[in-house]
Amino acid sequence: MKFNSELDDIVTYEGGKPIELVVREFGIKEEDVIKLASNENPNGTSLNVIEAIKEHASKVSIYPDDSMYRLKDSLAERFRVESENIIIGAGSDQVIEFAIRAKANKNLKILTAGITFAMYEIYAKQIGVEVVKTNSITHNLDEFLTIYKNNRDEIGIIFLCLPNNPLGESIPTREVYKFISEIDSDTLVVVDGAYQEYAIFKDKKYEVVPSDLIDRFHNVLYLGTFSKAYGLGGMRVGYGIGQKSIIDVLYKLRPPFNITTLSIEAALTALEDEKFVEDSLRLNFNQMKRYEEIADKNQIDYINSYTNFITLIFNEKYSSKEIADILLREGIIVRDLTSYGLNAIRVTIGQPRQNDRFLESFEKILLG
Ligand SMILES: *Cc1c(COP(=O)(O)O)cnc(C)c1O
Repeated sequence: MKFNSELDDIVTYEGGKPIELVVREFGIKEEDVIKLASNENPNGTSLNVIEAIKEHASKVSIYPDDSMYRLKDSLAERFRVESENIIIGAGSDQVIEFAIRAKANKNLKILTAGITFAMYEIYAKQIGVEVVKTNSITHNLDEFLTIYKNNRDEIGIIFLCLPNNPLGESIPTREVYKFISEIDSDTLVVVDGAYQEYAIFKDKKYEVVPSDLIDRFHNVLYLGTFSKAYGLGGMRVGYGIGQKSIIDVLYKLRPPFNITTLSIEAALTALEDEKFVEDSLRLNFNQMKRYEEIADKNQIDYINSYTNFITLIFNEKYSSKEIADILLREGIIVRDLTSYGLNAIRVTIGQPRQNDRFLESFEKILLG
């Protein structure tokens, strides 16, 4: 059967290998498998969230509150914006999809960093939108600007993934503002802040404040998610923050009841447990030091990370695919970046004991 030709060259998004698969394929006990591949919170989620989900379990037979006004109010209060500045998505993934469908088309491309979050390209290609990428793999705003200025009429959306997945770098907020001030008001700039909590914890100079951002720039959409620092990847809750004129258009693309009753309760409760998030962030950066030390000691390159993962880049002596395969057979799941054209692996920072196991196996592999 013939399908829409736009889909021909889309490579299906590959999530981290599920634990069950490693259990089945390699006969490793489930409790011995560690997954450091999907940037999930190794602390799980707040215990209050689990309680809230149990408490509301009996409500699953009725449709969720489609206005989501409680969650929007909570987010509005947290970020000092109005409810009308917020849209909720089934993960911020879904808001990315809304943004691309709202603004890009066959004549209006999207511009991204050389290596960045794969979903921008997948959603773009689904509707025949071309993606222009910088030659620099990490965010180089000078190069973004040059490409933009030379192709001004052809670019509809610029994606800034700050901090960037899968590489981990970020950009000081002052430079981000300076860049956006050079962009036409009719070009949408999406700032994907999936890892902002981590960046803020590491260095305030990298903090993007959504209210400030959308006050200054009426052409910006900020994205946040509950999947990373809040530990709610399985609940699928993300959000977009922008001027009402942008949010209203995105609403036209939103399917009704796009997140569940339990997701709403989980997100509301998660937002209130600041201690859980704070503890997760502290653990993350304390443990990340151990990865940096092992990398330094073995002369492995890595990108200074503002996230909950570290990207280790190998020279020709090693193959990231082989390293990832050996680790997998030991029950350690990491993300090989060969498909991004990089001889590198991305490792989510885990709990101390998970990191012990990764680092021990990793060093053994390096020594051959
Ligand atoms: C994880 C992630 C998201 C969104 O995840 P959802 O689970 O869909 O909210 C968005 N952007 C980046 C860069 C991510 O890493």
